[in-house]
Order: sequence, then C-alpha cells, then structure tokens
Amino acid sequence: MQRLEGMAALVTGGGRGIGRAVALAFAREGARVAVAARTQDEIEAVARECGGDAIAIPLDVSDEQACNRAVETARAELGRLDLLVNNAGIASSHKFTEMDTATWRRILAVDLEGPFFLTRAALPVMLEQGEGAVIAIASIASRVGLPYVAAYTAAKHGLLGLMRSLAADNVRRRVTFNCVCPGYVDTPMTEESVSRLIELTGRSREEAQKLLFTPQGRLVTPEEVAEVCVLLASREGRGITGQAINVDGGFYQG
Ligand code: NDP
Repeated sequence: MQRLEGMAALVTGGGRGIGRAVALAFAREGARVAVAARTQDEIEAVARECGGDAIAIPLDVSDEQACNRAVETARAELGRLDLLVNNAGIASSHKFTEMDTATWRRILAVDLEGPFFLTRAALPVMLEQGEGAVIAIASIASRVGLPYVAAYTAAKHGLLGLMRSLAADNVRRRVTFNCVCPGYVDTPMTEESVSRLIELTGRSREEAQKLLFTPQGRLVTPEEVAEVCVLLASREGRGITGQAINVDGGFYQG
C-alpha cells in the first residue's frame, strides 16, 4: 500500500540534496510530483527518476509571480495539489558586522519570502479540495541561535513562525503545516560548508566534515529527512500540525 496514493505534490529545491530525496520518496509512495528549482537539467533529471507523471517546473522562489505560476502549473498538470514542500533554501556564513544588505535580503527572500509566496498561492487550492499538507524544511537554526549565520537563523526562525501561525489559523480546516528541522545533512550545501571550513582552518576534508557531525557522529542523510516528510504528508500524519520535528542526531532536545 502506497502512503501518498492519489496525491499531488510540489517540491521546491527538488533538483538535488534533500529536495531530490523528498521528490523520490513521494513518487515511491504513489504521489505525482512537480520538481521545482532554477537548474533545468537537475529538475528534469529528478522528474525522470521519479517516473510516472512527474514534471519539472523551472522556478526561482524569490520571484512572487513565478511562485504563483508554479502553483498554477502544478495544479493544472497534476490535476490537483495536496502537498507543498518548501525546501528550496540557501545559506552562507558571515561575521555579522561585515554582512552586506544584499546578502541579508537574498537569504530572507529565498528562505522565508519564497515559502510565503508559495504557501499563499497553494493554500486556497488545498482548502477548496478539502485537505492538504504544507511542509517546510527548516533547520536546527529554527530552534537555536547559531553563530555566523544571523540571516539564515533569522529566516529559519521566521519560517517556523510562519508554519506555526498558519497551523493555528487552519486547525479546523484539514490542512496541516509543519517544519522538519535537520542538523547537517549530507548534501551539496553541506559540501560547500566543508569546503569553506577547509579554506578557513586548513583542516583536512575528513576533519572539517567531523566538525559538522551530529552527536551521533555522522551527518544526517537526505533520505532520513524525506521519510519524516512522507509521514507528515500521509493521511496517517495529519494529526500533526504546528510542529518542528528535529532530525538532528540528538543535537537539540526540544
Ligand atoms: P542544496 O544546496 O543541496 O540544494 C538546494 C536546492 O534548492 C537546489 O535544488 C537549488 O536549486 C534550490 N534552490 C536554491 N535557491 C533557489 C531559488 N532561489 N529558487 C528555487 N530553488 C532554489 O541544499 P540542501 O538540500 O542541503 O538543503 C535543502 C533545504 O534544507 C534548505 O532549505 C536548507 O536550508 C535546509 N537545511 C539543510 C541542511 C544541510 O545540512 N544541508 C540542514 C538544515 C536545513 P537551484 O540552485 O538550481 O535553484
């Protein structure tokens, strides 16, 4: 029995990393998937891997009109829209006093405004259909303040606040809103952080990667994050709303 049979999903940042794993897990569980991000060949490759009716939608989530169009396209091409995964995100580390305004705005535009645009466009569709689930890939940076990533931490705290407020607004309307909060995951984004650490500290690749390990002594896998998304997307998970679920190898208890 496939847990997402008959459902249709829009997954942002689906071209690689966590988003790719979520798209593949949703397709495996029977959902029709729209894979959205900026890099055309990556989203097309993931849509092919998903098989079935999966489609690729080129999208920059910081573009309000493009977000509206992506939701319309997903609904039109897949026939309905039950699931939105706000996964697309960027991160960069800075000494706070040296952070320029353009970088601050770009991180908030992608990590916080994008989910706002997409959720605002998708919610009326879900309400009309009578049910749905919105999942945001937030971060442990939604739960605690982390050094050198003020904009990312501000955006990810905001993302959790957005999901919690919408959960409260819609608690009687059969649409759920949750965040999954990973620790460092084995993805291209973390690979970039490892490269920066090597550059800054002169450590070996292995030593630099160890600095990012969870208390379990390893990175989280994209598939571990995707499995929690499957639960939140499934009808069995619809009693969960307004939650922040840590997938962080025991980093933060709360
Ligand atoms: P990757 O950098 O590996 O992948 C990011 C994805 O987001 C890509 O598909 C990228 O595609 C897409 N993306 C980036 N900018 C935009 C944009 N403006 N519009 C549309 N798509 C965009 O990241 P991860 O898979 O590691 O991270 C996914 C999410 O998980 C992010 O929100 C991140 O903050 C969060 N997270 C990651 C952790 C980690 O350790 N990796 C830990 C905790 C949370 P393209 O560039 O082609 O647009």
